Amino acid sequence: MENNKNLVNEQNGKAKENWYLPYMNQKTKGEDVEEKQSPVAIFYCAGASNVGQATMLSAVKAANEVGYDKAALLCLASISGELKNVTNAAKESKAVIAVDGCPMSCAKKTLEMKNISVDKDLILTKDLKISKNFDLNSSVDLELIKDAVVSEVNKFY
Ligand code: SF4
Repeated sequence: MENNKNLVNEQNGKAKENWYLPYMNQKTKGEDVEEKQSPVAIFYCAGASNVGQATMLSAVKAANEVGYDKAALLCLASISGELKNVTNAAKESKAVIAVDGCPMSCAKKTLEMKNISVDKDLILTKDLKISKNFDLNSSVDLELIKDAVVSEVNKFY
């Protein structure tokens, strides 16, 4: 990729941009790209509840921590919309993690409906015992969730 140095955090050497999606977009279009190792793909439900919103916020924190060469954030809505670049990104990823707010597991179900295997479904209410409510301004322990996502990513390395 161009200007690859700019995509790397100079302090810790970890990729700091979510490069995998635009990279797969180029590949899907048949453009020449420098081949790179696929990261773990993270999808989150981003539901309209405290835990749903926390999936997104904590996934960003997790990817920032491990670096985007290890974990890529991909758009769940694009899977429903059958966008080829995101579908290809999921299918070519090292592993797929779904982060769901509650046992309705909307992220996991959405992926599986499009024949994308989910290697891990992290469910915040079940796995981390976080109570679900619909106060979108209520505080949720994002560090706890982030640590759980990081731990799941690291299991694939
Ligand atoms: S998994 Fe739960 S929180 Fe997430 S979108 Fe579905 S119902 Fe909402």
